[in-house]
Amino acid sequence: MKTIRSIAQDFARICQITEIVRGFSELVAPSICIECQGFALNGWSCTTCTSQVEWWTDQWCPVCANPPNRSHAAGCHSVKLSKPVGTQTKLPWVQARSLATYSGSIRSACLSGKKKHGMWLSEFLTDLWWDLHSAWASKIGPCWIVPIPRHWSRRFLEGHDPSAFLSSKIAQNWSPAGGQSANFLKRSRATPYLSDLYTEERFRVTAQLFQVTKSAVDELARISTVVLVDDILTTGATAISAARALKLAGAKTIYLATMARTLEAES
Ligand SMILES: [Zn+2]
Ligand SMILES: [Zn+2]
Repeated sequence: MKTIRSIAQDFARICQITEIVRGFSELVAPSICIECQGFALNGWSCTTCTSQVEWWTDQWCPVCANPPNRSHAAGCHSVKLSKPVGTQTKLPWVQARSLATYSGSIRSACLSGKKKHGMWLSEFLTDLWWDLHSAWASKIGPCWIVPIPRHWSRRFLEGHDPSAFLSSKIAQNWSPAGGQSANFLKRSRATPYLSDLYTEERFRVTAQLFQVTKSAVDELARISTVVLVDDILTTGATAISAARALKLAGAKTIYLATMARTLEAES
């Protein structure tokens, strides 16, 4: 008769094997496009799907990271909200930089990157992000690279925190230019999936969502520039909440680095 412990051990072994098989299949068959399942020479996105990606250019809005051909649905520098949430008059960061719009292979890579087995795609994204923005990033000087973390319960359940992973990879690239990884933020409660919520609800759910770690105040007194890192920027509700917590803890200048910019519905 099997004990619960031995069943749990068997289960853990099966999970490990699944991870290994998945990793192995990506090694031997790395040439599948994540978007259309066609042949992908670069290992993740075929030529057609890559050419359809709307990559960041210097024409994009440097504050809200919207492409130039889109109207600023929520308004640049401001997010118009009805009461009782109130009107946000100014975004708390000075600049935001995205890799691309949230569509096609970038969307697929972001969604896979939310899972542990998709971490290799997150690494692609951060390298591409760095290729696009290294010249800009290198001018910022000493700064903290801070992820917008998951709640501990989700990190525990999924065994992975996508923003923390992206942030650590970006910090590796950034370190010669003075960027240092810093996990200053803690999410104080678990939140529902924001993608299911309207803008107003997102701001309500993310209000006072973050706390800073004890060491953050001292560290921010030393270096007060922060680069917040998140995978997807939609309304900015989560990032605004995170940035506010850091400002209260002493951050003076905040930048936002995101992999994908969702195009808001025109209103
Ligand atoms: Zn494709
Ligand atoms: Zn803008």
